[in-house]
Amino acid sequence: MYACTAPPLSESPRTSYNARMPNAHDAPQVCIASHHGSFAELLADAEFRAAAERPDGACLVEFRVDAFADRSEAKLREALVAFTPQRCVVTYRSPEEGGRDANASDETRLAFAKTAVQAQAAFVDLEVATFARLGDRARGVFADRKSTRLIASFHDFEAVPVYDRLHALRKQGEALGADVVKIAVQPKAIHDASPLLDLLYATDFAKPLMALAMGEAGFWSRVLGPRFPQPAPFTFARGEGAPGTAPGQPIWRELLELYRFRRIGPATPVYGVIGSPIAHSLSPAMHNAALAALNLDGVFLPFRVDGEPAAFAREIAPKLGVRGLSVTIPHKETVIAAAAEIDPLARQIGAVNTLVARGGGWFATNTDAHAAAGSFEEAAGGEGALNGKTVLVLGAGGAARAVAFGIKARGAEVWLHNRTESRAEKLAQDVGARCVKREEISRQPKALLGVINTTSVGMHPNVDATPLAASEIPQGSLVFDTVYNPLRTRLLELAEGRGCRTLNGLKMFVRQGAEQFRLFTGRPAPVEVMEQVVLQALAKRG
Ligand code: NAP
Repeated sequence: MYACTAPPLSESPRTSYNARMPNAHDAPQVCIASHHGSFAELLADAEFRAAAERPDGACLVEFRVDAFADRSEAKLREALVAFTPQRCVVTYRSPEEGGRDANASDETRLAFAKTAVQAQAAFVDLEVATFARLGDRARGVFADRKSTRLIASFHDFEAVPVYDRLHALRKQGEALGADVVKIAVQPKAIHDASPLLDLLYATDFAKPLMALAMGEAGFWSRVLGPRFPQPAPFTFARGEGAPGTAPGQPIWRELLELYRFRRIGPATPVYGVIGSPIAHSLSPAMHNAALAALNLDGVFLPFRVDGEPAAFAREIAPKLGVRGLSVTIPHKETVIAAAAEIDPLARQIGAVNTLVARGGGWFATNTDAHAAAGSFEEAAGGEGALNGKTVLVLGAGGAARAVAFGIKARGAEVWLHNRTESRAEKLAQDVGARCVKREEISRQPKALLGVINTTSVGMHPNVDATPLAASEIPQGSLVFDTVYNPLRTRLLELAEGRGCRTLNGLKMFVRQGAEQFRLFTGRPAPVEVMEQVVLQALAKRG
């Protein structure tokens, strides 16, 4: 039916650092889409002006002419000169494909396109449908272009058309003489974007494809464009605090600084975190900072995965070049189905938080267990400190399983308490622990070395909640709250008041990420950098 060569799952090249250092001219650019209501507003926007004037040429600015109340060809010429035409993308979108000028005629829009071509704007965007309607008149305008490149575009804000339709649109765009074909579609879930991914690997095309999947489920498409066989010359972004012109547009600075967009190329290893929700995950900030600190080629993305995570790992991830995945709520158990090989402890735990591409399949492991148990053991006095000691674990979810197995492996006797007793009983049976009731905790059993909270109680935004009242916290014990947002939970405040030593969830979070980083890249993680980035991100959230 169609020619398409999506790659198999491949491992990270262990020493592939600094593999691609493109020069300023061939590196992909970030195009900041204007959100302004007029040319005047755009011209007065210092952020856009500064971005366009960057000496490294990293940024383009898109003029969305259809949204400008003061639009005229003279104003367009003036703005092109002000921003430098070679840094400008000119778009006068048709109302049928999301343009804001309901009365825009094809002829008017073509006249603006002609002005942009004459002024040698870097790119002019015209819809495939418009181009087809205008026929030779449009051909004539673009036949005369000098440095300007024509983008033939298609937008569907509702869904992802089937592969054959996308293929036909790309063919049509190329036949019209476009230099770049742009296809923007709206997946409801990450799996919906499969036809778009297949189109990116189709082998019967000559021109670059800018394939954009809008919304959180399509975030990958905003970042990974330069990784596909016929890479698009730029990606779209929004200004700081701006709404953007399409759902899911990242902030331009994030693309350049966090995701190091200009360094992404066909061989760049991709890593990521899968979960739902995922937008607030700290893992992308932490892992990208670590990759940058070691000057490694690689990028780490948040993947919003709803539904079947194992299908994502098996079918979608290889096409995205993914070689390592962090796994978070709610996928830690179900993703195991994707694994060809499982670490024995992770198998016992019944939950994994890490997938690593190995030998053509996924190796699954759980770095939470050692991170939690190691942090707690260290705070308790170091190696052997848990041996023969009793520790109360609050919770019976994924984190509780990792913690319970982790401390058990270090010799602790585990007591369990959970809101839903049946879950605690199941975990107690699996790990070899004892279930305790709330009344028993209140009686302040002398045997306890410490308490580990693995419930989500006290986590942002319910920061006043605590899994134990002050009177239930064993005096003088070691209290570890795995929650890290906020770092100082109500439980830890109360514990301090009871003369307890306390430990927050930061060390565990950084440790589990550091071990993932080592498994992903084969290099020891820059732990201090990772911790600093997480602290900064948490401080920013307030
Ligand atoms: P999970 O599988 O959904 O388990 C949630 C646990 O919290 C269950 O035991 C649940 O009890 C309990 N819980 C939730 N709301 C409660 C409430 N109102 N009152 C009493 N108990 C309640 O989630 P998870 O993966 O185990 O993660 C739990 C927490 O661990 C996260 O919120 C996170 O803060 C922390 N964590 C930290 C790290 C780290 O690196 N520091 C890593 C992973 C997780 P039921 O069984 O009764 O529902």
